[in-house]
Amino acid sequence: MVLLALGKMKQDNSQYKEIPKAFHSFENEGLFTHCIECERELLKGDCDYVIEKAVRNYQGFKAEDVIFDYAICIDCAIEIQKRMSKESMQKIQEYMQVQLLKGQRELQNRDLTDVDGLYSKCMFTDEDKSNCEEYQVFAFCRGDKLNLQMPPYMVSGPILDEISELLSDETRDELNGFFNKHFSPAPGMFNPDPRLILI
Ligand SMILES: [Zn+2]
Repeated sequence: MVLLALGKMKQDNSQYKEIPKAFHSFENEGLFTHCIECERELLKGDCDYVIEKAVRNYQGFKAEDVIFDYAICIDCAIEIQKRMSKESMQKIQEYMQVQLLKGQRELQNRDLTDVDGLYSKCMFTDEDKSNCEEYQVFAFCRGDKLNLQMPPYMVSGPILDEISELLSDETRDELNGFFNKHFSPAPGMFNPDPRLILI
């Protein structure tokens, strides 16, 4: 949701880079190969897809754990967005615009040659991921490459919490449905609440 809501794609489509390890599948220790929702093969390179990974840092942030990660093709992501309430989508877009203005972020001027730098700090607060108890990273890909038409980014825990609070019950149910369908977290992993998935 966050990623598509950004919506400002660069027109230059020559920007493809290797997918960093940070966006590899935790379970398979390699590139994601299939869409979580429709099982479509992603490495053929005939569709764009989104990778989302939620990470929690532990023990004075010396250890980290992947809470969940997945890849979803753009068609499925759009389908899920369509099922979310207009009200929620509007609130999220407004919230993001305000946050970006607050931080005077200029997304179009980010340094695309420093790929790791793009997702090492929160897009909204500039907090480094090593200082975040929890964060999520997002990447837009095609085949086995990052598609820098929409550069990868990170969102820190406090911002994710604020975005979650904007969602209507209907949208919350929709996202929790997606979550319950695809993930069976270890007990206690999502205390106090299941983390909403932001596509
Ligand atoms: Zn799909």
